[in-house]
Amino acid sequence: MCGIVAYVGQKNAYPILINGLKRLEYRGYDSAGIAVANDNLTVIKKKGKVAELLKVTQKIDPHGTSGIGHTRWATHGAPNDVNAHPHSSRDGKIALVHNGIIENCDTLRKALIKLGHVFVSETDTEVLVHLIQEYKTRYRVPLEESVRLALEKVVGAYAIVVIDQDEPQKIVVARKASPLVIGLGNDEFFVASDATPLIEHTKAVVYLQDEEIAVLEPGKKLAIKSFQNEPQKPSIVELDMKLEELEKGGFPHFMLKEIHQQPETIADCMRGRLNAKEAWTRLGGLEPYLDRMAKANRLIITGCGTSWHAGLIGEYLIEGLARIPVEVEYASELRYRNPVINSGDVVVALSQSGETADTLAAIQHVKEKGALIYGIVNVVGSSIARVTDAGSYIHAGPEIGVASTKAFTAQLTLLSLMAIQLAKAKGTLHHAYYQELIRELSEIPNKVRNILAKDEVIKDIAETIKDASNALYLGRGYNFPVALEGALKLKEISYIHAEGYPAAEMKHGPIALIDENMPVIVLATNMSAYDKIVSNVQEVKARKGMVISIISEGDRQIKELSDYSIEIPKTIEPLTPLLSVVPLQLLSYHVAVMRGCNVDQPRNLAKSVTVE
Ligand code: GLU
Repeated sequence: MCGIVAYVGQKNAYPILINGLKRLEYRGYDSAGIAVANDNLTVIKKKGKVAELLKVTQKIDPHGTSGIGHTRWATHGAPNDVNAHPHSSRDGKIALVHNGIIENCDTLRKALIKLGHVFVSETDTEVLVHLIQEYKTRYRVPLEESVRLALEKVVGAYAIVVIDQDEPQKIVVARKASPLVIGLGNDEFFVASDATPLIEHTKAVVYLQDEEIAVLEPGKKLAIKSFQNEPQKPSIVELDMKLEELEKGGFPHFMLKEIHQQPETIADCMRGRLNAKEAWTRLGGLEPYLDRMAKANRLIITGCGTSWHAGLIGEYLIEGLARIPVEVEYASELRYRNPVINSGDVVVALSQSGETADTLAAIQHVKEKGALIYGIVNVVGSSIARVTDAGSYIHAGPEIGVASTKAFTAQLTLLSLMAIQLAKAKGTLHHAYYQELIRELSEIPNKVRNILAKDEVIKDIAETIKDASNALYLGRGYNFPVALEGALKLKEISYIHAEGYPAAEMKHGPIALIDENMPVIVLATNMSAYDKIVSNVQEVKARKGMVISIISEGDRQIKELSDYSIEIPKTIEPLTPLLSVVPLQLLSYHVAVMRGCNVDQPRNLAKSVTVE
C-alpha cells in the first residue's frame, strides 16, 4: 500500500519520479506528489491519480537531479491535495514521503505544537517531518542523524524517504515493517517501494532491512546503518524481472492479462517441481523440512483476503491427502490472540506481495513459540520470504491488478504440490491415486486454457447480472472456498454486494434473500456431492432465483435446471478449485467493465497491504 519512489544522481529526477509513480500506482491512488530539489525544494501534489498530478507538473516541468515521489493510500486524513505527500517541514526545507502509520502521531503532534510547530494536514506523516526538522535545527546535525533521532521517538510502521534543500544531493531512507528497495545505478541511486520502477534503470538492488537507515549520495558508496548507528554491509541482489512483465501486453487491463496468463503461471509454479512421466513432485523449499512437517502436530495456515481463501483450500488438500490436521486463521486475528502454538506445529504464511502487514506481524507474534514458519509468497526477497524459516515462491510474476487472480491459482498449485509431497512422505495415498494427482495437476494449464476460450459465453452471462445489487455464490467441499473467492472478486471490482456460502448453509439463512433479482452462482463440479448440489439448485429455482452454474463438461442435469451454465473440463476433486475459479474471475471482470468500474484500481483498495 502506497508507492514511494526517489532518485538522486546526474539525471533530471522529474521524469524518473513520474514514471516510477505510474508503475507504483497499483499500490495506492488517493493522491500523488513529488518534491524535486533545485534552488528551492519544489513540492507538487494532487488528489487523485498520477494523471491528475501530471496535469500540474507538466506546466511547471521541475528540474533538479534529486527528488522524491509518493502515491498514497490514505490512513490518516481524507484523500485531498493537502494530505497528499510529500509533506514539508515548517521552514519548507525538508520534504518527506511515507508508507505506513505513525501510531503515536497525536502525542508527537501535541509536543511539537507546544514548540511552535503548525500543522496543515491531518496526516500522521506531517508530524514526522516536523520532528526531523526540530532535531536538525536543535542539534545542528546532518539529515541522517536528525532522521535517526526522530525515529527513536516514533512508534509504528514506516518506510520513509527524506530530502533536504540544505543537502540537495543527498537522500535519506529508513524502514521499519514497510518495504523499501534501493537501486544502484551509475553514480546514481533509485529508491522504490518495490522493484517495479527500478527494473528499467538497474538490476542491482539492495533490500533495506528493518530498522536500517541508508544515506544515498552520488559519488559515495551506499551507506547503511542500523537504528543503533552501527554500520551494516549492504547485500546486493540481482533483479530477476522483465520490463514486459510490467506492461499490459495488448490487454485493456492488467487483471485480464493476468487471468489469461494463468496457463503459464501455473506451469511456471510447477516447473522443476513436478514430473508427470516419472510421477514425482519435489518442492525444494519443503524437502529439508519434509519430515518435520509430515510429523507436525498441526499446520496453521494464515493469510489475508484471497490468500486466506487459498489457505482454506490448502486445509482441504493437506488434511484430505496427507492427513495432517490443519487450521486456517486470518493473520489479523492470529496476531492479536494468544494462540496455543508450540514447537510441534508448523505455521504456513501465504502472501502474494510478501509484505502484508498483518501476515508479517502474525509471523513475528508466533515466532517465539518455536513453531517452524513456512512462507509461500510471490515477490522474491520480500519481507515474509526473509523472516520465515523456510518457504517456496509461487513464481507467478508481477501481479499488478489489485484483485488477485494469477497469484491465487499459483498459490493453489503450490499448496497442491505441498499436499501431494506430504502425502507421499506420510504414505497416505494409494500409488495409483498419487500418480493420478500428479498427472491431473500437470494437465491443469491446458484445461485453464480451454476455460479462457469460453470468454464470450461468460461475457454474455455477465451482461445478465451486471445490474444486480446482490449475488450469492454457493459451493461444497473444495468448491466452498472458491465460492468465497468468487464473491470477493465481484465485490472488489464491481461493488456488487456478494456473499459466498457452503451450499448446504443456504437453508440456514441466505435462502431468505433469494428472489427473481438474485443471481446465484453455483459451483457444481464436485461429483462426490452431486445429488446434494442438484437439490440446492432446485431449492434456488423454487424461489425464482437466477441460477448460473459452473458445471463439468457434459453435465446435462444441472445444465437443464440452470438459467445459464459454464462448462469446465473435468479433473479430480482436490484440483477442482484451480479450474472452477477461472470463470468466476472472468465473470467479475466483465461485470466490472460493463458497470464502468476501474478494474485494475478499484476504489478504496490497493495492492500489497502494508498497513494494519
Ligand atoms: N499514513 C500515511 C497517510 O495517511 C501514509 C499512508 C500510505 O502508506 O500511503 O498519509
